[in-house]
Amino acid sequence: MIIRPEDVKGDITKSADVVVIGSGAGGAPIAKELAVEGRSVVVLEEGAHYTRDDFKLNPLESMMRMYRDAGQTITLGVPSVVAPMGNTLGGTTTINSGTALRMLGPILKKWHMFHGLHDITEDEMGLLYSHLEEYLFVKKADPEVAGPVANTFLEGARKLGLSSGWLPRNAKECEGYGSCAFGCPSGAKQSMDVSFIPDASKSGAEFYTCCRAESIKVSNDVAKGVTGRFVDPSSGRSTGIGITVEAKVVVLAGGAIYSPFFLLRQGLANSSGQVGRNLEIHPAVQTVALMDRPMDPPKGIPQSSHVDEFKDEGIMLEGGTVPPEVHAVTLPFYGKAHAAHMKQYPNMGIFGGMVSDIDSWGRVLALPRAGYSPSIFYSLKGRDVEKARLATVIMAEIWFAAGAKKVFTAITGHTELGSTADLRRLAQSRIRARDIYAMSAYHYLGTCRMGSDPEWSVVKHTGETWDVENLFISDASILPTSPGVNPQLTIMALATRNAGFIDDKLNNG
Ligand SMILES: Cc1cc2nc3c(=O)[nH]c(=O)nc-3n(C[C@H](O)[C@H](O)[C@H](O)COP(=O)(O)OP(=O)(O)OC[C@H]3O[C@@H](n4cnc5c(N)ncnc54)[C@H](O)[C@@H]3O)c2cc1C
Ligand code: SF4
Repeated sequence: MIIRPEDVKGDITKSADVVVIGSGAGGAPIAKELAVEGRSVVVLEEGAHYTRDDFKLNPLESMMRMYRDAGQTITLGVPSVVAPMGNTLGGTTTINSGTALRMLGPILKKWHMFHGLHDITEDEMGLLYSHLEEYLFVKKADPEVAGPVANTFLEGARKLGLSSGWLPRNAKECEGYGSCAFGCPSGAKQSMDVSFIPDASKSGAEFYTCCRAESIKVSNDVAKGVTGRFVDPSSGRSTGIGITVEAKVVVLAGGAIYSPFFLLRQGLANSSGQVGRNLEIHPAVQTVALMDRPMDPPKGIPQSSHVDEFKDEGIMLEGGTVPPEVHAVTLPFYGKAHAAHMKQYPNMGIFGGMVSDIDSWGRVLALPRAGYSPSIFYSLKGRDVEKARLATVIMAEIWFAAGAKKVFTAITGHTELGSTADLRRLAQSRIRARDIYAMSAYHYLGTCRMGSDPEWSVVKHTGETWDVENLFISDASILPTSPGVNPQLTIMALATRNAGFIDDKLNNG
């Protein structure tokens, strides 16, 4: 059952086997798996519930309603990075692009070697991925629906002989509305709100929306439940109505920014001092190509194709078409130059490159004067700066091979490449982090990492915290490193795995 704030008339007190905080890629699968096993499950989700009837293809309105900070969350550091995240039923999956990739093979070996996670085996992950791919109708994007931008970029990549192809997506009968990041109006994208959450509800799980968990009840280092408060969806302010859920197991699944923020505010589960540290964001740079023919953006699937030739070097190129309203605010132009650029939008192709961050530094803090707002510090450093430049050079080369007249980049001093000579100049240049004037990120990870050593990690391989018994964390924060690709499928796989350990605990307890 999905409960909206208008259905709640006064304070609520409940008891359940499991209470889950957050309904995204980490929270919803746990709720469903445990509800199907007959466990009583209550989920508290701070965001509101929207359905396909609400998804009206209006990007700015969607961002106001379904994103934190209307999609304008910014990291503090150099360069400052736009870091959007969902705040709605289904979490960020409701507004994500639907790419559903398995993590790269060598990453799990890294987790074994450096984080002692030998219990998570390749075979087990393979089974979990297969199960999810079947359940979420994962299949490669259809080139007929993908749209001109993706087809043109792949044409350029093939001319250069680069490994490339169509991305697997959790979308069933996708019609190419180009609106995945603002809610899928056709219901094709199998985000949590149309997959795990309805199935969990059918098995009796209760989802309280516009309900912010405020503290975890702990007694003798054992989690006992959660207290929270209903919030007004437009202002985020408390409505004055509270909720208390007594539970045998508490699952924190607020995402890699809000889960550590929650724990830091309460001073919980942090004997290692690792909560909020080790933040990776998988930063992305964008290129925009001016073609001599219509590209019709944002028609098609915004993120349907990729170039994975450089994945072992930590660079993944993936389509990232955005609608004109969003494109307009990312430009380094103003006045007449801005207007002239936007007039050419119908002939433009947009593509993004993501960098697996290995040298950069990031941390989430709960600063006393920042109110209910995490401070996200991130600085792009060392080889990651170089990879961002390289990703830009490769994308520009691909665009020129596909017939681009000009390529716009996010690197100061090289914002407009009009010839191969300009491209060569960028290819031979050295840049600093501060030369990247527009960077964004979508995959935040690592801030409550799993590991085998309680001094260096926050949770065990089962997802249970080292410090507080029966408190589990299940979201992007437990991934000890980036999976090298978009993370949602890996987060869901680990959540499904953790549900098994919680079930065992309930059986034995
Ligand atoms: C625009 C965009 C596109 C993306 N595209 C892709 C893609 O194509 N493929 C992919 O693999 N990944 C993609 N991602 C990333 C992916 O969606 C996330 O990594 C994933 O959803 C994270 O899962 P999570 O459970 O950690 O957090 P979320 O899915 O963000 O869920 C956390 C939930 O917890 C709630 N919450 C937080 N604190 C509280 C509290 N105190 N009380 C109650 N509720 C709370 C939040 O409101 C939120 O709904 C994209 C991200 C963005 C922003
Ligand atoms: S492209 Fe359109 S139909 Fe396809 S998943 Fe995205 S929003 Fe839904």
